[in-house]
Amino acid sequence: MSKGKINVSVENIFPLIKKFLYSDQEIFLRELISNATDATLKLKHMSNIGEFKQDFGNPIIEVKIDKKNSKIHIIDQGVGMTENEVKKYINEVAFSGAEEFIEKYKDSAKDSGIIGHFGLGFYSAFMVSDSVEIITKSFKKSPAVHWSCDGSPEFNLVKSNKKDRGTEIILNISKDSKSFLEENTISDLLKKYNRFMPIPIKFGTKEITNKTGEGKDEKEIKETIDNIINITEPAWTKKPKDLNEEDYKTFYKDLYPMNFEDPLFNIHLNVDYPFNLTGILYFPKITNDINLQKDKIQLYQNQVFVTDNVEGIVPEFLTLLRGVIDSPDIPLNVSRSYLQVDSAVKKISNYITRKVADKLNSLFKEDRKKFEEKWNDIKVIIEYGMLSEEKFYEKSNAFALFPTTENKFFTYDELIKKIKKNHKDKDDKTVILYSSNIQEQDSYIKEANKKGYTVLLLDSPIASHLIQKLETTKEKISFARVDSDAIDNLIKKDEKSISKLSEKEQEKLKEQIEEVVPKDKYSVQLEAMDSESLPFMITQPEFMRRMKDMQNTGGTSMFGNMPEMYNLVVNTNNQLVNDIFKTKTKNKRDRLIKQSLDLARLSQNLLKGQDLTEFIKRSFELIK
Ligand code: ADP
Ligand code: MG
Repeated sequence: MSKGKINVSVENIFPLIKKFLYSDQEIFLRELISNATDATLKLKHMSNIGEFKQDFGNPIIEVKIDKKNSKIHIIDQGVGMTENEVKKYINEVAFSGAEEFIEKYKDSAKDSGIIGHFGLGFYSAFMVSDSVEIITKSFKKSPAVHWSCDGSPEFNLVKSNKKDRGTEIILNISKDSKSFLEENTISDLLKKYNRFMPIPIKFGTKEITNKTGEGKDEKEIKETIDNIINITEPAWTKKPKDLNEEDYKTFYKDLYPMNFEDPLFNIHLNVDYPFNLTGILYFPKITNDINLQKDKIQLYQNQVFVTDNVEGIVPEFLTLLRGVIDSPDIPLNVSRSYLQVDSAVKKISNYITRKVADKLNSLFKEDRKKFEEKWNDIKVIIEYGMLSEEKFYEKSNAFALFPTTENKFFTYDELIKKIKKNHKDKDDKTVILYSSNIQEQDSYIKEANKKGYTVLLLDSPIASHLIQKLETTKEKISFARVDSDAIDNLIKKDEKSISKLSEKEQEKLKEQIEEVVPKDKYSVQLEAMDSESLPFMITQPEFMRRMKDMQNTGGTSMFGNMPEMYNLVVNTNNQLVNDIFKTKTKNKRDRLIKQSLDLARLSQNLLKGQDLTEFIKRSFELIK
């Protein structure tokens, strides 16, 4: 029937901007310094292309607090604004002069580092101010102007006698926002948001002592200099070839001054197609408290700090890394705090994953020994990545390591090649033996080694998940913990070992033992092992243990309460076993069996409570 235009009046929108556009009041300073930086970068750009013919000099931005009069001043020496520009850029809410600039200078300004975008940043000043003033003089020949506004849509614009080029923003801080008049508050904010911005920012002055003269004539001279709070060319904005190891470490210290440990290595990110992204990621030493170490990566846009929540941009497994990512192309909403998750972000995340994998690969290739030494500190991140990112899992085959209990390191392919022949079970599967705890499983590891088997040490908190992943993706392998019964199922390399006892004798021995050992808990198995091997050993069916592990981690109660079932492996070639067999007195024999069983239980950490007390008592009796 009719078409029209919805009339959004400024009266309605203004309070909305003040209230909702920015979740955080404190970002007003970031926005105003960003504008001051933009104004200076614009001038620099004009100077570069010859549109500004005077000396560019070394412009700085100054932040001043006037506590007595409740004012904050932000002063720059950038392009400034003419009267018309103030009308256009300031009075028209949501008209971005920054975007217009980029549009106008197109290609040449592409890399100028201009921050502004939405044309709303300036108004964040009203979140903390009763009124805001702009005193500005353009670099073009035109008189300076003084604009003021109390947060209502009416503004005042008069001539000013400002002589030098640039803009001064004056905030008349409101009662509710008095805390922003504290030097510490502003100093903290500058450190948080502006520490790596490209134009020097002065906040107050500081005293330094210089030495002059020599020997007896040496004098200390105190000097007051500008306190510049920022590093204008942080490492990530430079080219990798212009940086050395020390530079990367120094920057790490700049980022995390409270951190005393050096990072293990770094990854310099640098792409400009299909998106723009620079940054440096560091692998830190991971200590036990993983949660405390998460979310230390900082996100920047054109050197302005945005957030240290990089969820979505960096894949979950890399949130344990540290460092900086700077990308003007990461879509954030106006308040710059929330990420708009979209396909561009997914691409960035994939890129980062790929870069990390490539770096690990080249570190491995360049110096395998050094890489092996670092393995313990980085394995959690890599194993987590193998579990959660399919692409990373594929690439990790080249550098993921499997350490043995003897501190040798194999890649997966090397491992399989090594053990393929003698780790076969009856189903022709290659069984990979591993220990989850080198201390607790020591006697089992020794037994396995004695038999010539290789035992891996997989002791990271997510090892069991990794095992499952490998079992479902690699062909014809299965994992078995070294104290499980899997060893018994391996096809013996050395079939020569025959039992010292005849079959009849063995049957009798089994009966003797079963009389003493509770049947519902242990299934007795006689084995002709090396005579040096332990006489009695308890193993647990691998399947049973995994079920129980799952139950314990709250995984499933699908199988009800799993019964406690163990194998009692008796080495018929061990002298003690033979002695037991030959013991005529039943009482004495039973006591020996009981004692041996308890020793086996002890080594599996299964002897507890009353049983343990009795065992100790009995042992003392024996040595009396
Ligand atoms: P944006 O920075 O996203 O363009 P703002 O609301 O922050 O939007 O600023 C609006 C415009 O006002 C800027 O684009 C710029 O043209 C002008 N402006 C703001 N601050 C300054 C300044 N300190 N010097 C020169 N121009 C400025
Ligand atoms: Mg801005």
